[in-house]
Amino acid sequence: MRFSDLTTFRIGGEIRRFIDGTSEEIILQALTDSQVDSESIEVIGGGSNLLVGDAEFDGTVLRISTSGSQLDYDPCSGGMITVAAGVEWEAFVAQSVTSGFSGLETLSGIPGRVGAAPIQNIGAYGQEVCNVIARVRAWDRQEREQRTFTASECGFGYRTSLFKEEPRRYVILDVTFQLKKGELSIPITYPELARELGINEGERALVAQVRERVLAIRKRKGMLLSESDRDSWSAGSFFINPSISAETLVQLPTDLPRWPSGEGTYKISAAWLLEHSGVVKGQRLGGAGISTKHVLALTNVDRASAREVCDLARACQIEVQSKFGISLEPEVRLINCALA
Ligand SMILES: Cc1cc2nc3c(=O)[nH]c(=O)nc-3n(C[C@H](O)[C@H](O)[C@H](O)COP(=O)(O)OP(=O)(O)OC[C@H]3O[C@@H](n4cnc5c(N)ncnc54)[C@H](O)[C@@H]3O)c2cc1C
Repeated sequence: MRFSDLTTFRIGGEIRRFIDGTSEEIILQALTDSQVDSESIEVIGGGSNLLVGDAEFDGTVLRISTSGSQLDYDPCSGGMITVAAGVEWEAFVAQSVTSGFSGLETLSGIPGRVGAAPIQNIGAYGQEVCNVIARVRAWDRQEREQRTFTASECGFGYRTSLFKEEPRRYVILDVTFQLKKGELSIPITYPELARELGINEGERALVAQVRERVLAIRKRKGMLLSESDRDSWSAGSFFINPSISAETLVQLPTDLPRWPSGEGTYKISAAWLLEHSGVVKGQRLGGAGISTKHVLALTNVDRASAREVCDLARACQIEVQSKFGISLEPEVRLINCALA
């Protein structure tokens, strides 16, 4: 097995040992064995947030592939749906919408599996998954025990969580979501989506309609996985939107999009920084390229190596650093490779 078969970038070298964790028994056994043998083990889901080096990976890759879900419904509190970590995120969202729940519609079309959703607190079009998570059940590799975290214990923040802050410690086994029944979506705060729906920001629309519009926007931007759309042979947004202080912000152009992110800090648009540093859509470096539809996505245009993607990412970082003095950090997890 090669990492290129397991990642949406379709890049990455041979794997010494691969285990498909189709049951919790297999997962826990693999984790215990690796601890006993002090072997390096990488836990992955759908491979949609990974860039993996071209050399052989000298360890075990454990893919979380469990299935199944359980619904407890109460007319007052709504649906409590516990979903196995290996379930495809998009299949779960589609199911929740057809079952009449609201809360996940703006997160339609995000690749990957349910277990990875809390890791970087996935988000899109004004919604973050932490807003609908009730609890997360995980295996603590350090304490060698199962633990259940309530949402407030998960340390969620913008594209981060306790699970991301302590990499390799927790293996997520299932996630419980609390969703409301209803035909109407959550309030739509993302301007582009509100425009597409023909509503004002803050208003609601039909859940199914929101899902359909989100999928259409994603397709236009190459952010929907597709065999035939090379712009989607990526890991989504390569860089995270930087968080900066108010003092730094006043030194930057006034038309740079910004959002308050608490405690006197601001999140600023990484896409804007790239575009205004001279990085252009469709730009190439060997087999790697900037998406032709979305400047934040680095893509595998033509048999790209991880080295080429890293070099392109590094070139983007240098442009933004020299023009604006801002350091862009990858959102994508790098395995067996580095940007420097
Ligand atoms: C076209 C495209 C569009 C995207 N759009 C968005 C978007 O709009 N918003 C967004 O937030 N992200 C987006 N992404 C990024 C990605 O889809 C998400 O981060 C997704 O949650 C990753 O899931 P995965 O199962 O593929 O995880 P992987 O890529 O396999 O793993 C990601 C990280 O999670 C860890 N991990 C995975 N499963 C587990 C588990 N069960 N327990 C412990 N650790 C685990 C891995 O070790 C790794 O560190 C996009 C990616 C692509 C390719």
